[in-house]
This record gives sequence, C-alpha cells and structure tokens, in this order.
Amino acid sequence: MRDSTNAGKPILNVFDLSQYYYCPRKVYFLTVMGVPATPRKKMSYGKKEQEKERKRVTERKDVFGIPRDEVEEVLHKVYVEDRKIGLIGQVDTVLKLKNGTILPVDVKYTNFVRVYRNWKKQLTAYALLLSSEFGCDVNEGILYFPKQKEHVRVDISKEDKDFVLMDLEKLRGLMASEHIPRKTDEKKCRYCEVARYCV
Ligand code: SF4
Repeated sequence: MRDSTNAGKPILNVFDLSQYYYCPRKVYFLTVMGVPATPRKKMSYGKKEQEKERKRVTERKDVFGIPRDEVEEVLHKVYVEDRKIGLIGQVDTVLKLKNGTILPVDVKYTNFVRVYRNWKKQLTAYALLLSSEFGCDVNEGILYFPKQKEHVRVDISKEDKDFVLMDLEKLRGLMASEHIPRKTDEKKCRYCEVARYCV
C-alpha cells in the first residue's frame, strides 16, 4: 500500500516517473503488478562508479565544472519529499553555491553523453523537490557522465516543471487503471529489467 497525500493521491517517487518515461508499460508492471526489477550488471557497476565519484569530487579543483571557491556545500544522497505535489526522491548529489543557487546533479553511467528526454524530466522532478526543500527556485541541473568525465548543465524552465506535474497526474491515472499500456519501441525492451514478464 502506497503512502498518500492529504488529498488521498498516491505518493510517487522520481524512480517511478523515470520508468514511466522509459516505458509506461514497464512502470505498470513495477507499480501495479508488483513485478520485481532484476538489476542489470550495468546498473550495479554504475552504482559502484557513483561511490567512487563521490570520493573523486573531494579531490578536484572544480565540482562538476563549478570552481570550488563558488561552492558552499556538496551533499550526497539527498532524500527529498513534497507531500503537496505527492512526490519523493533521492538526489545523487546536490550543490549549494555561495550565491544561494541550488543544483541537482544526476550521475549517468552510459556510453553516450546526451540529454535524453527522460533524464531531463528526472532532473526537473528533482528541481521541483529541491525548490520546496530549500525554499528557492531551482532552474538548472547537471548531468554528470563519469565514464567520459563530462558534465552537461541543463536549463529547467517553469514550463518543464508544469509538464512534469501533469505527467505525475497521468502516471497516477495509469496506476489506477486496469488497462495495461501498449508495448514500446522494441529497442528499449533489450535493456528492460521486466522484459521476461512482458515480451
Ligand atoms: S519489455 Fe519493452 S514493452 Fe515491455 S515493459 Fe519493458 S520496455 Fe516496455
């Protein structure tokens, strides 16, 4: 049974949302059918790399491309929640800059340095949560690619945030529905942790 907001809506987490963007059918299996997601080797490897990355950050002159003397604090594994919008999540890293700016950093262990739509949505969801946590507007995030040692700064607009809020409602509708969503692009199925229950 999921926790719910004051309005009785189920509380979602950012992981659900990112899975929804990957494939709505996948999030249906995970959240409605309760299918366990078997972690792939790549995911476990990525987690180990993230641990190493946390140590490396303390040794660098800049922090994800930002000069160290502009950074007030680097926080890791930050749990955030906003019961009003019904969303919780854990941000890989949060940068607090001396000028008051708050930036979520999401680490992506992948072969491609690209800003995929679902990754930007995930950063936007973190921006919404951090805005509420720190009481300030969060209008930018960073994707960090440890394999390539590259980072990409991503602008997050009010419109991006409004779309994510609408998507949360769509996701709640999907979870309340008894209709299993259609299959997605087959290329994604090759990397899907619930493929054996679906294909
Ligand atoms: S196997 Fe393909 S269609 Fe099925 S849930 Fe996974 S990504 Fe979606």
